[in-house]
This record gives sequence, C-alpha cells and structure tokens, in this order.
Amino acid sequence: MRSWAMPLCFDLDGTLGHFNAGFALLREALGGLWGTAPTEGELSCCSGSTDWEIVGELHALRFGTPLTDTGYADYERACVARFQSAFGPGGQSPAVFRGILEGLHRLAERHGVWIVSGNAPALLAFKTGVLGVDPAIPRLGSLPGHGRVDLLRRAVAAAPGPHLYVGDRPHDLAAARAAGVPFLAIGEAVPGDHVALPSTAGAECLVQSVERLVASGW
Ligand SMILES: [Mg+2]
Repeated sequence: MRSWAMPLCFDLDGTLGHFNAGFALLREALGGLWGTAPTEGELSCCSGSTDWEIVGELHALRFGTPLTDTGYADYERACVARFQSAFGPGGQSPAVFRGILEGLHRLAERHGVWIVSGNAPALLAFKTGVLGVDPAIPRLGSLPGHGRVDLLRRAVAAAPGPHLYVGDRPHDLAAARAAGVPFLAIGEAVPGDHVALPSTAGAECLVQSVERLVASGW
C-alpha cells in the first residue's frame, strides 16, 4: 500500500454543488466588457473546460486575437461582481451536495485535500466561500496558460503519490488520466467503469469510496 501523503483533489461545479445560471453570468460579464455578450451557441462550441480556455476561445472568436493576462483579469473581476450580486446576501442560493461536502471535510481531517477547478481564482474563492468550504483547504483555480490537466499536475506535484481527482464531467476523467491519477465520479455524466457516486451520497459513503480506491493501489 502506498503512503497517505497526498492531495485528494476535488472539482467544484457539479461535484460539490452547482450555481444555477452560472454560464449566463459568464456571458453577461463578457457582454459588459465587450459590448455584446457571446451567444449560448458560441459558448457551447467552446472545447476548453477552464475559464482561461473558454474565455480565450470566445475572445479569439470575437476579436481574432488571443486573450491577454489583463483581459483575463478584467473578465475575472466582472464575473465575480455578477456572482456577488446574484449569490450574495439576500440573493439566490447554490445547490449544495451536503453529503459530498461533509465527506470532503472529513477526508481533510486526515489527508491533504485541494479544490482544483476551472473557475478563475477569485471566482473560485467566492464560490467556495458561499458553499462553506473550510478556508484552510487550498484552492487552485484557472490560471493563464493552464488547462485542467496542468492544474491537476500542479496540485499533485505538491506531495508524493498516490493522488485522486473527484469530478463530474468527462473532461475531469480525461485530466485525471492525463495526469496519471485515479478518478472518482460524482453523478452520471461520465461514461466508463470508474467508481461513481450520486450527488446525494452521504459523507461516509464518499470517505469509504475514496479510501478504498486509493488503498487499492489502483
Ligand atoms: Mg465540474
């Protein structure tokens, strides 16, 4: 059996909960910066899974040029402002997968746990705060020039293996495979023979599934 010195990495949206209309807020934020918002169709054609990749694809489509670090920082500020007004005090509440979130916190009592997400860092900080993620748990959001696998590699480089990625989409499984780490799915959106739990799973179910998966040496 391998060492327990490891980060267990969790995606955020769709894995720990979800923020309804989040993509509409992203489009609105870009509309405020660019004059008109990208269409739903343009957004759905993006192949990336991180904010840097998605906003970069939309920028290239609109302006024919790559997104700059400054342009990304402008997007990040505008998007956080939209989320703050939609989900701040007196606003909407996100759906929270309470058992999964509690399980994450139980795992964090014994192991390294990171949030590795495609949200821009300031947006990730806001969303994890609203969801009630322990502030001591490291967050790694979408950095310029990084795809999801780059983020995952950066997180798992912090400690010797084994490692794990928990996510809800095929791009999470693809990133886990590319980074050489085992994968656990939340929900039913990822085809394959990996371990999968419903978003309604209880905390102990998550803890046992993660510990079994990692202890097995996969
Ligand atoms: Mg997700």
